[in-house]
Amino acid sequence: MANFLNINAQSTKQIMALVERSLALKQGAKPAGQAYTVANLFFENSTRTATSFQMAEQRLGWQLIDINPQNSSMSKGESLADTLKTIKAIGVDVAVVRHAQTAWYEHLDGGRHPLPILVNAGDGSGQHPSQSLLDLVTIYEHFGHFQGLKIRIVGDLAHSRVAHSNAEIFQRLGANITLSGPEIWHDSAFEQFGNYVDLDDQLDQVDVLMFLRVQHERITNQENQSFSALQYHRAYGLTQERYQKLQNNAIIMHPGPVNRDVEIASDLVEAPKSKIFEQMTNGVYARMAMLESIQ
Ligand code: ASP
Repeated sequence: MANFLNINAQSTKQIMALVERSLALKQGAKPAGQAYTVANLFFENSTRTATSFQMAEQRLGWQLIDINPQNSSMSKGESLADTLKTIKAIGVDVAVVRHAQTAWYEHLDGGRHPLPILVNAGDGSGQHPSQSLLDLVTIYEHFGHFQGLKIRIVGDLAHSRVAHSNAEIFQRLGANITLSGPEIWHDSAFEQFGNYVDLDDQLDQVDVLMFLRVQHERITNQENQSFSALQYHRAYGLTQERYQKLQNNAIIMHPGPVNRDVEIASDLVEAPKSKIFEQMTNGVYARMAMLESIQ
């Protein structure tokens, strides 16, 4: 039994097996493995990831223990490590944790008592392994391969755990990455995976155009105050004009929640090339495959 904290800790072979398994589950394969008792601890707000994990756990026949971190003893000052040890002592096998602290799992103090198996549902600006897996599933379902695909990731790169999680795995699987977004949110960590380009640069050759939410909760007050949705949309958003330039088989992705008319023109959120709601559907199967794999 192993923690699932970072998709890039998995081998390419393991990741491809997870992608295939997610699609098999989508096509009706029977869930496998032991039924665990699981607690979902979301210290940051979530609609998609939290609901999707719950749905995946239910479909696997797992027993869910409802814990709302806001009402837990963490509000009395108990540490995350002690909270996790406590739920393990009570009988919880698996904890699915979302936390604002980047790499929260590296800061758990040891001790004599064991922790549950840990699944990372998103850590600060660090990693988001289940989102990466569902993105891979969505891309693979559409194209049938990753090799040579031109993937452009656009927006608030510096603060996005989705981008940090995805860039490396996309490159490892053979895709060709380009990055685009306001210079203040460039992050040198991406330079090893792809070049920064203007969003309009060779847009007609891109296969996957992935937009990121502007992470207002992670940027500075000054950045928030000087932010103009209109200017951002014109420079880095999906407009009708850009949409028309895309090749026939190209797809649009966004991890959600979408700021309509900021990252994507409202009319285009559900346009034919948009996979945004398919990503959400695939997320349940990706999370089932992920949870099956920790046994
Ligand atoms: N839902 C994704 C996340 O939790 C993307 C976002 O919030 O912008 O990282």
